Amino acid sequence: MCSRPVRVRFAPSPTGFLHIGGLRTALYNYLLARKHDGTFVLRIEDTDRERYVEDADEDIIEALSWAGLSYDEGPNVGGDVGPYYQSSRKELYQQYVQQLLDSGHAYYAFDTPEALEARREEAEHGFSYNAATRGEMENSLTLPDADVTRRIANGDPYVVRMKVASESSIRFEDAVRGTVSFASEKVDDQVLLKSDGMPTYHLANVVDDHLMAITHVIRGEEWLPSTPKHVLLYRYFGWEPPVFAHLPLILSPEGGKLSKRDAEALGIPVSVSDYAEAGYEPEALLNFLALLGWNPGTEQEVFSPEGLAKAFTLDRVGSSGVQFDMDKLRWFNEQHLRAMALDTFCARVATHAEAQGVGDIDDGYLERVCALMQERVSFAHEVFTEGRYFFEVPDAYNEKGVKKRWKDDAPALLGAYAEALEELDTFSAATAEETLRELADAHDCGAGRIIHPTRLALSGVTFGPSLFAMMEVLGRTTCVERMRTAIDVLG
Ligand code: GLU
Repeated sequence: MCSRPVRVRFAPSPTGFLHIGGLRTALYNYLLARKHDGTFVLRIEDTDRERYVEDADEDIIEALSWAGLSYDEGPNVGGDVGPYYQSSRKELYQQYVQQLLDSGHAYYAFDTPEALEARREEAEHGFSYNAATRGEMENSLTLPDADVTRRIANGDPYVVRMKVASESSIRFEDAVRGTVSFASEKVDDQVLLKSDGMPTYHLANVVDDHLMAITHVIRGEEWLPSTPKHVLLYRYFGWEPPVFAHLPLILSPEGGKLSKRDAEALGIPVSVSDYAEAGYEPEALLNFLALLGWNPGTEQEVFSPEGLAKAFTLDRVGSSGVQFDMDKLRWFNEQHLRAMALDTFCARVATHAEAQGVGDIDDGYLERVCALMQERVSFAHEVFTEGRYFFEVPDAYNEKGVKKRWKDDAPALLGAYAEALEELDTFSAATAEETLRELADAHDCGAGRIIHPTRLALSGVTFGPSLFAMMEVLGRTTCVERMRTAIDVLG
């Protein structure tokens, strides 16, 4: 653990909507910040204008807000070390490029895209612009100074490259993987400043992490090969590098990296907004993602976001890929729904009413329905589908159920039950049950003989919450009406 106050960042490039892997990265950063009373920064890395997707930053911000991963500094929030869009920091990078040029750690390169392409085609094993080849190229290391000055003054296009010194290997400590080492000849002279004057990801990322006093860089494994370049940049600038932690790959349920295409083929939503739309609870998705790469070292699986922040440590993040499992996610959703206070559950359910075609519902009524359904649904919106009969008269009776449960004596028994219910002084779950049992005794039949057809009449289906509790919620008039309708329809 480093001794500076913990400052972490989520640094997405707005090249598309926020996907599930991105949310996991944001989450691990967020958890570390919360655990150590640190600061969670959102920085939008939008220097690559060609890959920029309009409104992607809005989508990212919205998705983080839906998930409840609030950041302490960033767009719309501000902070002392902004701006938090790299495109607004463009001028700032120039001076750092200059610093590397002055100290001999970077140089100008004038090679045209065609010349580079020709070298790539010539090379048998791929072309690297590095210590072995830079002497054959057109750059400020090979051209006379006057020529370099003249070209720049002329406005000839150029890039600035990092001059990677030859050394045996570049090593760094990764909080997840331990010591990682790369052969330095594998690290090329990375372009730092592009010909359009924009910094590359590598330069802007390192400069900003330094200027924003980032202590831990937590990101996906795909960035591991970039890290030696970053380590060198820290060294060339003379800055203290952050702790690096590269998260394991998210694998498809069938093994192999989970690509967007595989995910779609397997019915796994990719974008965070799809999970929101499908009705996953943000806490459940976070819990699921937290355990997709991290383990608490105990048997506990269900965590609130606060519980996660308390338990989270980087040393319990694994390095091997983890398989995505939709059934497990559904299970987490159920667990989180069950654990909610009734009013929270109700409020979540209510947000789906309109989309489920349920109009104005009395709050008290919805709460009574929710109390019965909370244990029974995998998604909040299922209160309106599984429990449709609480909101409208069933328009059909389950055929198999009728065959099995609607016996010849059902009309007579239900008719008698409806009558007895009408005569009750007070109608409640308890009195409805008592009446039913008395009636069963009087007819010398099992209670099930009345319970099952009554349930069918009230709900159209053969399963659901306790019949008598359901009757109390529906109310006497509705129950009696539905029983008489079933007698008419099913005969
Ligand atoms: N902008 C990079 C991305 O899109 C950030 C990688 C990093 O965290 O350094 O993921």
